[in-house]
Amino acid sequence: MSEQVKLQALFGGTFDPVHYGHLRPAEALAAHLGLQKITLLPNNVPPHRPQPEASPAERVKMLALAIAGNPLFDIDQRELRRQTPSWTIDTLIELRKERGAKQPLGFIIGQDSLLTLHKWHRWQELLDYCHLLVCKRPGYAEQMETPEQQSWLDRHQTKVISHLHQQPAGLVYLADTLLLPVSATAIRERRHAGLSCEGMLPDEVIKWMDKQQLYPAKNSH
Ligand code: ATP
Repeated sequence: MSEQVKLQALFGGTFDPVHYGHLRPAEALAAHLGLQKITLLPNNVPPHRPQPEASPAERVKMLALAIAGNPLFDIDQRELRRQTPSWTIDTLIELRKERGAKQPLGFIIGQDSLLTLHKWHRWQELLDYCHLLVCKRPGYAEQMETPEQQSWLDRHQTKVISHLHQQPAGLVYLADTLLLPVSATAIRERRHAGLSCEGMLPDEVIKWMDKQQLYPAKNSH
């Protein structure tokens, strides 16, 4: 018998900046599902959103500081090297080629992203390449917006963790992760207003942002 192939997880985002709303649910998910590694994939040009305020290099530096000493995470910068928008489907196709047809792959998203998944480029194909591992996020509905979207979810949803480790792709797992009311938008807004962000993201990242004068207070002079 061949060795059991284990689920590998990917976590895409703008990370402008990375915060505990990313890190804590991802860590809880790893403990719950038995994940050995979560690969963070910072976006270059997020297709549906305004441009990030921090540069790609700054966002990577903040990620590196946030995960320093934590072997669960690593960073894959392939989307930052592309000149085109970071379509998740393209990244998944590439990763699938690299890791092989049988390797179970899980792409982590928050509940807000699940609700708007139908706006993603070639969204119906995403499950051909990965499972979706969905973390709860406070303030977002548990039901999909339309009956069609809900029936898509019902068709693909699994509650059986071993299936995520056995099948290479095709399932949606709604994880019972803790609710953390943190967003990168709130952090940027608080910093622009000169307010503290302590407890919302790792101290090392806050110190570095301060030193670089990133997301500066707008009424500071
Ligand atoms: P912004 O406020 O700038 O829109 P964000 O805080 O949503 O950013 P992103 O980098 O865009 O952060 O998010 C990357 C992924 O992390 C998305 O799938 C998103 O749903 C998820 N995520 C972000 N914050 C949370 C949170 N507090 N709880 C659960 N998931 C989250």
